[in-house]
Formats: sequence, structure tokens, C-alpha cells
Amino acid sequence: MIEKISILLFTFLFFLLFGWWLFYLPLNTKKIKKIEEKFYKKLLTVCKKEQIYINFYDNIYELNEIKEEEYKLKNLSTGKLAVGRYVHLKPHYDSPLNRVNYKLPEIKLIKEENNVWTFAHELGHHFCVKNNDDDSEKGANRYIKTLAKQHLNIYERNCLRIHISVYFNR
Ligand SMILES: [Zn+2]
Repeated sequence: MIEKISILLFTFLFFLLFGWWLFYLPLNTKKIKKIEEKFYKKLLTVCKKEQIYINFYDNIYELNEIKEEEYKLKNLSTGKLAVGRYVHLKPHYDSPLNRVNYKLPEIKLIKEENNVWTFAHELGHHFCVKNNDDDSEKGANRYIKTLAKQHLNIYERNCLRIHISVYFNR
């Protein structure tokens, strides 16, 4: 009898823990915010190491080098504008001197947004270009997972799981 109860109790606790890990954590917004902040800081140090210039723009129009009025006149939705950009030298021009002169490679972000996922995506472009000469959007999105693996532990990655997959499939 006691054996049966303990097995039942054990199973119950196991599923409770499992549910907490699988469903509760990824929806805990307070925790997620904290981990995102940590990830953001880590990405900043990666940029320093890689000698990438980061520039923050006031708004989405400035970042896309288009006037707000002009854009509204054309009646386009802002969904078509980039929320971040990665700019780099073509291999032919790439040299340490040109990098300093042109302040490249550069990541452009929007000041207010503070969006770690856009940041990770742009940094993904950097590594894809650097490692595989790949400038695809898919490659950059895929690299978000690699960056998360390098800079976050399994607990933190689990908390961000849903967010990572959203940006993954962008
Ligand atoms: Zn991109």
C-alpha cells in the first residue's frame, strides 16, 4: 500500500516539475525579461570582441534612411521597413584600415526598442557572412540559436524557448 502511494506521489511530483519546466517557465515574463537583459549584455561584449560598431537610430525611418512623410505618402506599412541592419564591407574592400575608415562592420538598431532578438539576428548576419559567406535571412535567424547556446545556460534557454522559436521562424 505504502509502495503504491509513494509511486503515485512520485509520478505526481514528476509531472508537476515537468509542467513547471516545460510550460510555466517560458511564460514567466519577469524571468524572461531578466534573461533577455543578460543576453543583450552578452551580445554587446561579442560586438566589442568582433569589433563591430553599433549605432542607435531615433526611429525606424531614420534607420531605413527614408523620410517619415514620404513613407506615409506612399501609404506603406512599417512592416516593410527593417528594424535592424547589418552593414559590412564587400570581401574585395575588406581590410583593417577600411574597417576603421568606414566604421564597418556596423549594426544599426532602433534606440527605444532595445530588442534583443533583432540584435541577435543582426549579429547572426555577421557570423554567417564571416564564417560561411552567407547573407541570407534564414541563416541569421538560425544563428540566434547558436548565440543563445554560447551565452545562456540550459535553464535560461528553456525560459526563452518560445521567444527563440518565434524569431526563428520570422
Ligand atoms: Zn536580416
